[in-house]
Amino acid sequence: MATTRRPTSPHAVWVGVDLGGTKLMCSVLDSKFRVLAEDRTSVPPAEGQQKGLKRMAELIENTLKQSGMRRGSLAAIGVGCPGPLDLEKGLIVHAPNLGWRKVPLKKFLEGVFGRPVVVSNDVDAGTFGEYVAGAAQGARTVLGIFPGTGIGGACIYEGQLIRGARQSCMEIGHVKVWPAGPLCGCGRRGCLEAVAGRLAIAAQAAAAAYRGDAPALLERTGTDISKIRSKALADAIRDGDHVVERIVRRAARYIGLAAANAINLLAPDVVVLGGGLVEAMPKLFLEEVEEEARDKVMPSFRDTFKVVAAKLGDRATVIGAAALAARAVQSGEVRHDAG
Ligand SMILES: [Zn+2]
Repeated sequence: MATTRRPTSPHAVWVGVDLGGTKLMCSVLDSKFRVLAEDRTSVPPAEGQQKGLKRMAELIENTLKQSGMRRGSLAAIGVGCPGPLDLEKGLIVHAPNLGWRKVPLKKFLEGVFGRPVVVSNDVDAGTFGEYVAGAAQGARTVLGIFPGTGIGGACIYEGQLIRGARQSCMEIGHVKVWPAGPLCGCGRRGCLEAVAGRLAIAAQAAAAAYRGDAPALLERTGTDISKIRSKALADAIRDGDHVVERIVRRAARYIGLAAANAINLLAPDVVVLGGGLVEAMPKLFLEEVEEEARDKVMPSFRDTFKVVAAKLGDRATVIGAAALAARAVQSGEVRHDAG
């Protein structure tokens, strides 16, 4: 793998794409990763993956047009996707929310745009975005934790994203925090995600609402787990559902415990918390995660890190995906003349 830095024109633009659950967001960014234009669209799962890919190409084309930049100034495209992925091939192995399987994303977009395409894990990209333009700028080692439906993690060390040969890593959602705990989507028991992910929180909150212990939540969403999303939980807590608050605080404590284990291994100077749950309840999550992490790390680590909330919101992934693509092109890791 070449390591020489390749010059990129200062007028070059980078495109970042966030393939979310069923939403697509695209930004065109300048060489300092400032947003020049952004646009979004939805990807109805029923349309299938061919139409979905076509929508992505159209969105990129339209966003480039809105930015006023010519296609010739496009240096590379970075796409952040939920896993599992084959990072070498730029392949989405499976996107359960969309029902997509074995999607050759890199090959498709390089065919359409004739520029290098770098596919990244969405939480890796989100954490990298916070590192280049958000809450973790200037850190030596960043640990990113993004609790949502699942719980994703990422680590950046001296500006380099830590990853495996083909796979992303830092699956903090599947670190065991309760060996005899509930069954996780991965098939094992007691993973952080099964104890503290949004689905786990929503299931407990729904039970509380059913029992009559969470009247504000019951009025808002009923006991339908799919409706008990981050904002509904935050609203119920604000309106006095103490049982819901206890459930969420307990989940955040488990995230703090998993963070402590990761801190002992990586010694991050910044732990950045992002994702839907944290965005809806930043104070609660920062308090509980930080307190539990400081309590559970080795004493010599206790004062070596800060815990911060992500700053870029839903832009973190597009900015990070573009920045990871820029890094790969500039380091010679992917060819500039691909396609
Ligand atoms: Zn698991």
